[in-house]
Amino acid sequence: SVHLVDIWNMIEAFRDNGLNSVDHSAELNVEGHGKLTVFSVKAMLATMCGGKILDKLRYIFSQISDSNGLLVFPKFEQFLREVLKLPTAVFEGPSFGYTEHSLRTCFPQQRKVMLNMFLDTLMADPPPQCLVWLPLMHRLAHVENVFHPVECSYCHCESMMGFRYRCQQCHNYQLCQNCFWRGHASGPHSNQHQMKEHSSW
Ligand SMILES: [Zn+2]
Ligand SMILES: [Zn+2]
Repeated sequence: SVHLVDIWNMIEAFRDNGLNSVDHSAELNVEGHGKLTVFSVKAMLATMCGGKILDKLRYIFSQISDSNGLLVFPKFEQFLREVLKLPTAVFEGPSFGYTEHSLRTCFPQQRKVMLNMFLDTLMADPPPQCLVWLPLMHRLAHVENVFHPVECSYCHCESMMGFRYRCQQCHNYQLCQNCFWRGHASGPHSNQHQMKEHSSW
């Protein structure tokens, strides 16, 4: 999607400009994006970039914790505020935007949140409601350039990219991610059949 490309280009530009030495609240002018704080850019960078989700969450925690290794809630809230702009921009549904409840849905009780609890919470299955899109987005970015040399059984495209879905009931019935996400089905196959997701060939 266009938004992903935009952010990638942005990240590259910031990396070239020595972003790491700048204060978090400093503002940057980004062409086509208006003003963004350094923190905002870092939050997005860490959320969107490739790599292991665990590594990314560790990096994020290092940006929003204090010297005792405890989560700083106002910083986490700021992080949520920033990254929850992403699903709003990338997906059409408004259901994941930031609200004042977002923070509480992640850590309803804990006063002291250390790295392990932070990781456990964000990687829980299911994750907190406001962050359910995070693992999906991460997996999406990860498989974006995976090519499957097989024809989609519905649209018959021969350049299947991203996820591939194989029906567990029909013999050799496979869908590209676009057809699967749209609920397409043909022949004896039904979109109620169980499908297995493949992220590699
Ligand atoms: Zn297809
Ligand atoms: Zn089927």
